[in-house]
Amino acid sequence: MKILLCRIPSSYGVRNEHPENIMMPVEMASIAAIAREQGAEVDLLDLEAEPISIDALKAEVQKPYDYIVLRAKTPSFAVVKEVFSQTPAKIIGIGHLFHTKSSQIYELTDLPLLCGIKGETDTPFRMLLQRLVQGEPFDDVPNLIYRNADGEIVRNPDTLLQELDELPSPDYALFDSSAYYTFYPVPFGTRRRYGFMMASRGCPYDCSFCSPTLRNSFGKKMRFHSPERMVDDMRELQRLGKTIVHFRDDIFTVDKKYVYALCEKMIEADLGMKWCAQTHINCIDEDLLSAMSRAGCVSLGFGLESGSEKILKTVMKTNKIDRAPGLVRHAKKVGIKTVCFFLVGCPGENEDDHRLSLELLNKTMPNLIQVAFFTPYPGSTDYETYIGDEQSYNASLHHYNNYRMNFTELSTDAVEAFHKTMYKTWFFAPSTLVHTSLSLISDLVLNPGYFRMYLAKGSGFLMRLLKPRELKPPGLEPAPVVEDCYI
Ligand code: SF4
Repeated sequence: MKILLCRIPSSYGVRNEHPENIMMPVEMASIAAIAREQGAEVDLLDLEAEPISIDALKAEVQKPYDYIVLRAKTPSFAVVKEVFSQTPAKIIGIGHLFHTKSSQIYELTDLPLLCGIKGETDTPFRMLLQRLVQGEPFDDVPNLIYRNADGEIVRNPDTLLQELDELPSPDYALFDSSAYYTFYPVPFGTRRRYGFMMASRGCPYDCSFCSPTLRNSFGKKMRFHSPERMVDDMRELQRLGKTIVHFRDDIFTVDKKYVYALCEKMIEADLGMKWCAQTHINCIDEDLLSAMSRAGCVSLGFGLESGSEKILKTVMKTNKIDRAPGLVRHAKKVGIKTVCFFLVGCPGENEDDHRLSLELLNKTMPNLIQVAFFTPYPGSTDYETYIGDEQSYNASLHHYNNYRMNFTELSTDAVEAFHKTMYKTWFFAPSTLVHTSLSLISDLVLNPGYFRMYLAKGSGFLMRLLKPRELKPPGLEPAPVVEDCYI
């Protein structure tokens, strides 16, 4: 059996307005390991990491594969429709697009779809493949979406794997690409050879803008790999030449006891690997930050979103935001570089909320910020609130591109201007200028490929920030702006 694993980027062939991390899809590496367990031959086309032209992609999918496991998000709907309708292989769809828009995919496309897999993909994929290998029906496999013999679209109940260690280790060798990186800042003198892992699955919070399947998360129930398994996987990544691990967990520190145990194992193993992760203001404290630093943590992301309690309440982000400045300061003190994530353009947002976010930025002044535009993605509570389930969703919306759905009390121009203000405030802060300059020198010496890419993407983004704003003509507002691809 021959299987192609294919990941399509959100904006195929379109230059994003904002530089983005390119992270290894851990769950696809897990699927690759499962497929190999079943004796399949597996190829990989990760177009987020190594893009090819649409024509080249069309040629690739004409090759004699039995199955294509296709991972796509809603913004890539048009490309999926155009490219994959003609493939002779059967498609097994995974990821955000197939999870949230499966009915439309059946109704609006001619994809040769065997099935889609909702939510958590690896356990259902393992069962599905076993059935396919044995030539048995798969209609009882959990999480599947498929058309039955009567042409009806069936959505089987979901399952969540409880014991994560039951999965084989991801096939890291298949995904051994130098094209994967993150913009998370690292200490000077760090060699950036990135490996990616997930120690846990799930997030217990309910942020209304968050779409679990978009961020590749798996429900609220937390499940964990054993610390021993994590250290073994780090060892394998080190064998492949990786120097730094990026944990892709939604919130790495949900269970502090677990993180202490994992840190202890890392220290015992003495691999000398560095690592980064993402945390939540409510689930971290100074002692844990110090312990993580001792175990090799060099960079940590904090999902702050807004300095305004009103906005945090609106988007159901339960951040105890007063804790943020002290925690970010302590992280820096113990040698952990910091990234803070902000969200602008939230429903009901006004100038006071902008002022409060700016104040929070000035109080935290992390080593990097990422500012996203509020976007009601399918699968989020906000999608239900603001879009509904009509087939009118503009699939080209992206939280890092222009602001195109305005639910604030402000004009779209004002929201976009504030987005720039956040970045400019951060970028021109003396601490940022010093840090960025030293980082660039360090990367020039140790990571020339990363240096070139950072400079190209960073300078392009900076130029766009500095360019005078082109005010839109009156009459376009209120958004939503309607164009592009609708599903
Ligand atoms: S934004 Fe972060 S904390 Fe909120 S639900 Fe999503 S993953 Fe969890």
